[in-house]
Amino acid sequence: MDEEHLLSRPLDWQLPAWSALTEALSKDHLAHGLLVYGQQGVGKLHFAKALGQFLLCAQPQNGQACGQCNGCLLNKAGTHPDLILVQPEETGKAIKVDQVRELNHFVSQTSQMSGKKVVIIEPADAMNINSSNALLKTLEEPSGDTHLILVVDSLSSLMATIRSRCQYYEIASPTREQAYRFLKNEYPDREDIDVLVNISEQGPFYAKEMIEQGKLEWRSILSQGLLDVCSGKSTIEVAESWKTIDTLEAFHWLDNWLRDMIVLVMTNDLSRVKNADLSELMHVIQARRVDPRYLHRYREVIAEMEEATIKSHPNKQLVYDRLLIDWNKMLGNL
Ligand SMILES: [Zn+2]
Repeated sequence: MDEEHLLSRPLDWQLPAWSALTEALSKDHLAHGLLVYGQQGVGKLHFAKALGQFLLCAQPQNGQACGQCNGCLLNKAGTHPDLILVQPEETGKAIKVDQVRELNHFVSQTSQMSGKKVVIIEPADAMNINSSNALLKTLEEPSGDTHLILVVDSLSSLMATIRSRCQYYEIASPTREQAYRFLKNEYPDREDIDVLVNISEQGPFYAKEMIEQGKLEWRSILSQGLLDVCSGKSTIEVAESWKTIDTLEAFHWLDNWLRDMIVLVMTNDLSRVKNADLSELMHVIQARRVDPRYLHRYREVIAEMEEATIKSHPNKQLVYDRLLIDWNKMLGNL
């Protein structure tokens, strides 16, 4: 029976950060507060889990968790009593001060396996000011041999008082080949790995999330909607068909495609487009010879609407209807 896959292992492109960490540990220089950062989709949480499992392993081998000791067996089962993962209770929401108080309590207790304790906070910038302040003292002088691993996309999104109490470790982005290999290994039957690597900007864990959370389907519905409007379907009807799609995701994709469209009208070279699977949509822009200035302007419209949406949560369908009317205008249909 092979349970080995249940233990997280650092991935190819994460090895430089991994070496830096294991070296600091071997020299007894590893700080209590560890900040793991890097671009979206590079697998920072995966890395943090691998690190936590490694720190709790009784007899690491070749710089990795052994997979055999009691600590590793508990980690494989996901029931190690000395490791906790703190995340927002709902995606996109804050990590509450009560959650940090529970975390502080966990840190104040003695380790149950008479060794280290590990806390992973992801994403650490989901802590608001109160939560961050509640963490400060623990981060400064945690009781016992505890490591707090804070996971974040960008360092600047954390309070300076938190940052200054941590050692930083940057997770590099994978090369194209590494991202491709990782996804091919995860999804051997998929034939769109090339496209996935392109559209996730080589953040393979983001690609994974797209597949597993149905975001790829949103992408198809969105692109089909744009085509439908081109061929005369009403914007209201298309906006209705988009109503289940998260607006921020919609803005993300529309902007992503516009960048491709700008490249396409400037170069007339379809091979330079990232969303190569959406050739029908790209051809529409190519065939109509849309002025790139209009495409740039439309990107601005999207950015403005995104800002307004974050601030005031306007009615989704109205937002989509307006976006589609502007799309139609840009194509010269209105
Ligand atoms: Zn072990």
